[in-house]
Amino acid sequence: MIKTVGEGAVFAIQMLMNGSIPKQAEELVLDASESSRNSTIEKGAILQYGPFFDRLNSETLASSNSQFFNLFEYISLYIHIPFCRRKCPYCHFYSVYDDESIKDRYLQALVREIEQKKSLFSKRHIVSLYFGGGTPFLFGVERIKTILDYFDVVDCEITLEANPESISEEKLEEYRAIGVNRLSFGVQSFDQRELQLLGRCHSVEQAIQAVHLAKPFGNISIDLMYELPGQTLSSWKRTLEQACSLPIQHISLYNLMIEPESAWYRKKEAIVLPGEQMALAMYEAAVDITSKHGFEQYEISAFSRPGFHSNHNSGYWIGREFLGFGAAAFSFYNNYRFSNVADIRKYCSEEESVDFSETLTSEERVRELIAVGLRMNQGVDVAALEEHWGAAAPSLSHLEEAGLLVTKKGRVGLTQRGRLLYDAVAAEII
Ligand code: SF4
Repeated sequence: MIKTVGEGAVFAIQMLMNGSIPKQAEELVLDASESSRNSTIEKGAILQYGPFFDRLNSETLASSNSQFFNLFEYISLYIHIPFCRRKCPYCHFYSVYDDESIKDRYLQALVREIEQKKSLFSKRHIVSLYFGGGTPFLFGVERIKTILDYFDVVDCEITLEANPESISEEKLEEYRAIGVNRLSFGVQSFDQRELQLLGRCHSVEQAIQAVHLAKPFGNISIDLMYELPGQTLSSWKRTLEQACSLPIQHISLYNLMIEPESAWYRKKEAIVLPGEQMALAMYEAAVDITSKHGFEQYEISAFSRPGFHSNHNSGYWIGREFLGFGAAAFSFYNNYRFSNVADIRKYCSEEESVDFSETLTSEERVRELIAVGLRMNQGVDVAALEEHWGAAAPSLSHLEEAGLLVTKKGRVGLTQRGRLLYDAVAAEII
């Protein structure tokens, strides 16, 4: 299956946003490489050259590009915990049924991988550690603590994803006691009909109660989805108003995309989405309502109370290196992009977890950093990127002329229209 460059490019950005890969990630990334950009895919290299991590020892960093903007000393870590009570029909990320019998084996495999990668992070300041999934809350406090004990997490944002139906006051307190200092709830909607449509296991009341129970964390993020089948502007506004009235500090927005590997993809012809004009109206409503309630938009789809930007996600957008652990986890380190096998049994049984890697040329890295960096309100210093990487950025003048980009004080940023059409802008740049 050949994808357009745009689809592959946007897909690569989605991986950066989520820290783990859909099941077909390898195929799609390889498709992206088939463009005329002459990408340097190294599929299979790990088999030819021995253990992948031997090639990524920390000494190579002394001369690496990681020093860009003093990012060298910082690193983010992502731990993928793939267990879910039920597969949501729109979800295409790697997850498995919540099976207690495999969790200890999975923990052992995670520990093995952490030991393997130790030299890559041991001299770095870990600024964020993110347990994503799946539903990491279901992994259990003891197992999460076992993992945390392997890292030096002083001054570190430690996020755990949870679903409203899984939590209890007691468990929340236990997670807080072991050092988790940020919770991210998969709420998606405060409309009961929409929750049922999405196949979520929680009710509106459970979501509201969960946020209140988690209040002692003082740093709560919720995910909300728009552009859902049957969703109206007024139901979306009610969801936003409800969200803003809760003791939360952060909101991440997702517009529904019917992705391959999701259950809905197989019947996508039958699914009627609200349409482009409505999607734009919903997005604008989100910007207006969150702003009215004191949230600041710092990225296309991220809104926070002052001082509560997601440190972890910001790392993806500014190009901080990150290491992923667990089945399907994705990493970017020392100019290598690599991902683990998206199969929990293989991940647990095989010594080498990486099954895909590629290096990026300087030109590709500049393109990617511009495309990802544009997501942030602060925009991108393109000249600094060019100077550091020794590679020319693509011309952006046609995007400025089209009213999608604007340059202010040496930084290029998206216009409001550019934000709405970000996927097309990113595809054009990459
Ligand atoms: S709970 Fe989250 S990760 Fe699990 S299937 Fe649903 S959307 Fe996907």
